[in-house]
Amino acid sequence: MSILIEELIKKVQEKDAGQPEFHQAVKEVLTTLEPTVDKHPEYVKAKIYERIVVPDRVVMFRVPWVDDNGEVQINRGFRVQFNNAIGPYKGGLRLHPSVNLGIIKFLGFEQVFKNSLTTLPMGGGKGGSDFDPKGKSDDEVMRFCQSFMLELYRHIGPDVDVPAGDIGVGGREIGYLYGMYKRIVNQHTCVLTGKGLEYGGSLIRPEATGYGAVYFAAEMLATRRQEIKGKVAAVSASGNVAQYTIEKLNQLGGKAITLSDSNGTIVDEEGIDKEKLDFVLELKNVQRGRIHEYADKFNVPYFPDKSVWEVVKEQGLKVNLAFPSAHENEIDKDEALALVKNGCYCISEGANMPSTLEAIQVYNENNVLYGPAKAANAGGVATSGLEMSQNSQRLSWPREEVDNKLQWIMKSIHQSCLQASEAYGKSGDYLMGANIAGFTKVANAMMAYGIV
Ligand code: NAP
Repeated sequence: MSILIEELIKKVQEKDAGQPEFHQAVKEVLTTLEPTVDKHPEYVKAKIYERIVVPDRVVMFRVPWVDDNGEVQINRGFRVQFNNAIGPYKGGLRLHPSVNLGIIKFLGFEQVFKNSLTTLPMGGGKGGSDFDPKGKSDDEVMRFCQSFMLELYRHIGPDVDVPAGDIGVGGREIGYLYGMYKRIVNQHTCVLTGKGLEYGGSLIRPEATGYGAVYFAAEMLATRRQEIKGKVAAVSASGNVAQYTIEKLNQLGGKAITLSDSNGTIVDEEGIDKEKLDFVLELKNVQRGRIHEYADKFNVPYFPDKSVWEVVKEQGLKVNLAFPSAHENEIDKDEALALVKNGCYCISEGANMPSTLEAIQVYNENNVLYGPAKAANAGGVATSGLEMSQNSQRLSWPREEVDNKLQWIMKSIHQSCLQASEAYGKSGDYLMGANIAGFTKVANAMMAYGIV
């Protein structure tokens, strides 16, 4: 490893102590950027590498709200504005009890490169809170969102920072957040994406991350003259990304056989077809129920307290494709080895950083087509970018038009990754390709600005 990269990784670990997910993301990106160091002495001189690992700004705040029993609750709110070299900050808001500064920083850092890859002018940011929407009433979620926005509104704006959804933030939460923003500033403007269709949302935005992950897998498979049709897939989680990954797999003739939530995993070897998927959408998005209810309804095996990847390993589940769609580090080295052993040769990451560094090494050593998160799940933020364009034009594009643009963007991301990996002598290494292609655009913009 070059001394510059090695020392910088060490420095981040020292200066940003107690943020293991951020360290992991920085290490993953910087080690793959190594070949750029020799090729771009101007980046070294301008200390681009040192500058890109420090966020432009971190906002942390108190979020007080009152629960249904009249008790005061306090949560922590975050918005990390990581880098706006190529456009306004853009990235989701996560509501989950595990949220802390290190997690939001890792997500914001990844977002910088992901957004750059989309071809659209968007910088990177991320935010959220340790609030847990699970088990809360609609009124409690509304009061929390209103209190959260009462601070966040002063840091965002259509040309400044445009948040969206992530874990725990779907249509309901975006509605409450946007309603409060609109009331405070008295402007109807594109300050959030993932909005409802009635008030400025884009068709295909809810579907975009899952659809995009499948489009990216299809592009990777095509390099080996294969297609989605006839392939068996393991999909983890049962949230927004998982749901629309399965919908697109079904449309393209694939078969998804797993779903999970934080309580357990179901396996349906017959395949989760349209009718069963409709049940999941109702269960998760309306009833806000648990995935074991799928097992009860369709009489399939349920594995309590097991992740999809543990079930693949322990039950020897045969799959060709894997779509991790839950959370960071959900696949470790042993689970990656089990996937390979059970016939999996293509992994497209819907979730952010779902594979540990050791798991990625297993993919690389076993010639797995590996679509890293910042490329494979970029369809969501890309379509958020398209929502921003439609809002600026005061127009709504038809479903087919947005889907065509999404497909074009996923193809172009795939192409950029391949070209960059080839240019740096590691053809087919999508992780290196994605990091270098995403980084170069941001680095060149930073060079143009001088030392700011
Ligand atoms: P979501 O709709 O809130 O669903 C999250 C799913 O993951 C749920 O099934 C949830 O189960 C499960 N999950 C979350 N944390 C977990 C944990 N610690 N342990 C076990 N299961 C857990 O969220 P989403 O939007 O689909 O996001 C899923 C992943 O995709 C995240 O990594 C997110 O950053 C990434 N992503 C999302 C988008 C987007 O457009 N939404 C775009 C790019 C990337 P429970 O209900 O039991 O918690």
